[in-house]
Amino acid sequence: MAAKPRILVVEDEPGIADAIRYVLESHGFEVTWRQTGGDALADFARQRPDLVVLDVGLPDISGFDLFRQLRATGDVPVIFLTARSDEIDRVVGLELGADDYIAKPFSPRELAARVRTVLRRTQAAPAVAAAPGVATPFVLDDERRQIRYYGQLLDLSRYEFGILRLLLRHPGRVYTREEIMYQVWEVPEVSSDRTVDTHIKVLRAKLKAIAPAVEAVCTHRGVGYSLAESCPAVP
Ligand code: CA
Repeated sequence: MAAKPRILVVEDEPGIADAIRYVLESHGFEVTWRQTGGDALADFARQRPDLVVLDVGLPDISGFDLFRQLRATGDVPVIFLTARSDEIDRVVGLELGADDYIAKPFSPRELAARVRTVLRRTQAAPAVAAAPGVATPFVLDDERRQIRYYGQLLDLSRYEFGILRLLLRHPGRVYTREEIMYQVWEVPEVSSDRTVDTHIKVLRAKLKAIAPAVEAVCTHRGVGYSLAESCPAVP
């Protein structure tokens, strides 16, 4: 990234906003802080940020409503700050489609890590799943966080979705388990091998349920995983 990514922080409590600003700036981000939804919308219209950190409990408008208004203008990445468990339920239940959330009280350093992960994920992902000319039975819909396989909608967990989306970037390229863990998980686990393997196993079973004869995900023993470069047009 050439320019510093600009993060719009919408948070009415100055103490929290200060802590967020400090840690994000020290991680190399440019931070704009707005205390109300109205100010945030005005700023958003003036200059589009690379990512929005959005408090759910704002004085003038609910963070959820603000989120919808922001998203109506385009697919900006959003990380919610939530204070109550019912808010978390709504974010997680997420027909909303936010990129991530973090519950208060939180460590600003963890927030910075999440911001970086979401930016990496959203900026690296192409709008179309496969390179031109490569036949793929997969259709990725980032806005809805959905992937279709041979026309059927896959019912994927958050991590299965993340893994498949990553593999779809470059069919044929081998991703190591560490790479997958680093790119897909918000907080990478120390021992990543078994976790990644387990999710791949479930993902593969879901793909097999639709096309039993197709090996869409290839295992490279001792190395990692890739997506098959071409799958048959009809399973
Ligand atoms: Ca608040």
